[in-house]
Amino acid sequence: MSTTRSQAHRSHNFSAGPAVLPLEVLEKAREELPDYRGTGSSIMELSHRGPEYMEVDARARSRLVELLGLGDDFEVMFLQGGASTQFMMAPMNFLSGDRTADYLNTGAWAKKAIKEARIIGDVHEAFSSEEGNYNRVPRDEELRMSGNPVYLHFTSNNTIFGTQHPEEPESGGVPLICDASSDFLSRPLDVKRYGLIYAGAQKNAGPSGVTLVLVRKDFLEGARTDGIPSMLQYKTHAGTMFNTPPTFGVYLVNLVLGWLQECGGLAGIERRNREKARLIYDEIDRDAFYRTPVEKESRSLMNVVFRLPSKELEKTFLKEAEARDMHGLKGHRSVGGLRASIYNACPRESVEALAGFMAEFRQKHG
Ligand SMILES: *Cc1c(COP(=O)(O)O)cnc(C)c1O
Repeated sequence: MSTTRSQAHRSHNFSAGPAVLPLEVLEKAREELPDYRGTGSSIMELSHRGPEYMEVDARARSRLVELLGLGDDFEVMFLQGGASTQFMMAPMNFLSGDRTADYLNTGAWAKKAIKEARIIGDVHEAFSSEEGNYNRVPRDEELRMSGNPVYLHFTSNNTIFGTQHPEEPESGGVPLICDASSDFLSRPLDVKRYGLIYAGAQKNAGPSGVTLVLVRKDFLEGARTDGIPSMLQYKTHAGTMFNTPPTFGVYLVNLVLGWLQECGGLAGIERRNREKARLIYDEIDRDAFYRTPVEKESRSLMNVVFRLPSKELEKTFLKEAEARDMHGLKGHRSVGGLRASIYNACPRESVEALAGFMAEFRQKHG
């Protein structure tokens, strides 16, 4: 089998999502594309109930179980509709008429999740950093939870604002539901505290089109089914392929999971992620030229948001970065400035190149 290395030009890709994938994964997919393991077809062209795809699917599940240490406690589902569909599906299944769900309002995605949940039932905001333009996540002692919430929903990493929960919020035993779209698999999780974890794959786990959903089995037992269309019930998808899964996406996710195992699992990748983030934050902290609106304890290891002394300089920075083959650095319009998304697959060399350019730019313009 051919193992030729890619001669492809690879840019420094800091896109917030869909985002950079490991080159090894792309090369493996290319190699296997026209003829998957001697079948004479690509994996995309094979039945989702056939042995080849069934093996890919099972492998992806078992890798997730191993990487996260899920044991036998969780159902793993590969769904569609993105994290945005989970904003609706989670409360539909778990928030019943007589109960309240608690939410942490820590960013634009969190707010969208709250909006959807309010259509379904009673929602209590246990914390909001909206007034400070979402520059931080709460400390545990700031949480104001309602009496007996059915779950506490939080966004582990706020992609747009560059904040991240340093660890799970303390919910006093209330099951956590987490939108982990932009930091899933970037570090180990204390999985026993979660009822449900969901993540659109396109930031840290694979291509767009797959949503990774993990539901703890005993939490799932309490899920509603009455009045909910089949496709939108978690129970429909537990332990079975109800309909055609996004097969090519799951195939790529499986390759990414294999790559993660080779990186030393979640502890290994967390170490790498911390080192990469430090390179950029050190540059930001060096003096007053760069600054970040994010409070230090809330800094994200995945999306580093920063500003320059003027909008003019920010424009120049972007332009010169592009000329150095660094892309995707423009901040979200609601924050402005710059954002470097440095997910798992963003190579250290790209981060070093950016940090080097930041130092050079300060020299020239500071
Ligand atoms: C990107 C993102 C979403 C939206 O995901 P879709 O898959 O586009 O629905 C939701 N939450 C977070 C934290 C995100 O980063």
